[in-house]
Amino acid sequence: MESRNRCWNSRPPYRPPPKIYGNQNIKPPSVEPTARAGVQQALKTDCYRPNISQREFERLLQKHLLSHEQMTKLGYPTACSAKSVNQFRRLGGVGQQQRRRAEEGLPTQGPNAKRRTCSRCARDFFTDDHGYVTQEKCCYHWGRAYPAARSARGEVLMEHTCCNEEAGSPGCCHAEAHVWDGLVSGNNGPFRDFVYPMPCSRPPPDGHGVYAVDCEMCYTARGLELAKVTMVGMDGQRVYESFVKPSSEVVDYNTRFSGVTADHLNTDTKTLHQVQEDLIRLIRQKTILVGHGLENDLRALKIVHTNVVDTAVVFPHIKGLPFKRSLKSLAASFLRREIQRGTGTDGHSSYEDAYACMELMLRHVTNEYEKDDRNKRRNY
Ligand SMILES: [Zn+2]
Ligand SMILES: [Zn+2]
Repeated sequence: MESRNRCWNSRPPYRPPPKIYGNQNIKPPSVEPTARAGVQQALKTDCYRPNISQREFERLLQKHLLSHEQMTKLGYPTACSAKSVNQFRRLGGVGQQQRRRAEEGLPTQGPNAKRRTCSRCARDFFTDDHGYVTQEKCCYHWGRAYPAARSARGEVLMEHTCCNEEAGSPGCCHAEAHVWDGLVSGNNGPFRDFVYPMPCSRPPPDGHGVYAVDCEMCYTARGLELAKVTMVGMDGQRVYESFVKPSSEVVDYNTRFSGVTADHLNTDTKTLHQVQEDLIRLIRQKTILVGHGLENDLRALKIVHTNVVDTAVVFPHIKGLPFKRSLKSLAASFLRREIQRGTGTDGHSSYEDAYACMELMLRHVTNEYEKDDRNKRRNY
């Protein structure tokens, strides 16, 4: 009991970092005028608050930090050898499922055109330096295919979650253009326009900080680009939030998942470079970032950071990588909470997702600590 008191109750109280709101169209949480404010407010007041200082939380998270090898395999932006890049590709990393080529004839393309594969319908299309060469509507299923039943001969029948039509059937959704994820071969560098958090000259007394990050993306001719970023502290409060104007024209706002609409990005929105400058003031080299599949967020933010805890790795899929449990399923299992309840028009909340990651880790390390403590006392 003594060791418990020493470690848990004699810590200085956690002091949240100063809050920065990235741009004018995002208000502080208490007055946020969006339809989802009710959800966020409820979460904010119900925040899980273990009796644990930030320094202690940082210490307990150390064993969950991704190794350099893990980061490379998962496709995090980090320098690596050619061997590990190939390993990552063999593991079926980023976008491999979408690499399937459609068999239909392809439209003609110019000399500088690059072939892309639609992330939604798997048809090939072309973009060049100016945008889209292929002008073609996209017909797709927004829901994933899952094993729904078995035929009389024992074959697994796959159906889409969006419409319960069988896999391979014509899509139930239509969009003006095909879209792609923006990922090309050579996923692990070189990283042009990426920023690197700086070391601290003097270690801060409260620790280096632990933040959960979640980004929302839109499709442009350059692929998936950052449209919104939210960073949450261990007390469940927003530390940073901003909409971000993509560098090229938006082809599809991806609102079903991103919750981002044209109105959000038409106002006085920051550029990626401005957001990077803001974040680099909050994130230092030893700051721990928590997220679910955080490689996508760091790629979109163009930040190379190596102190990372990924809830997709801490709570692995039973089949192992490249399979990952969804954040929705982790929240349902471990937080007894339903997240990402979007009706199909309002998308996910980046705050809700980021805080779910933070709470998953808070609960996980406190449970681990208490278990260790019980074992120690039993052996004493
Ligand atoms: Zn469908
Ligand atoms: Zn398509």
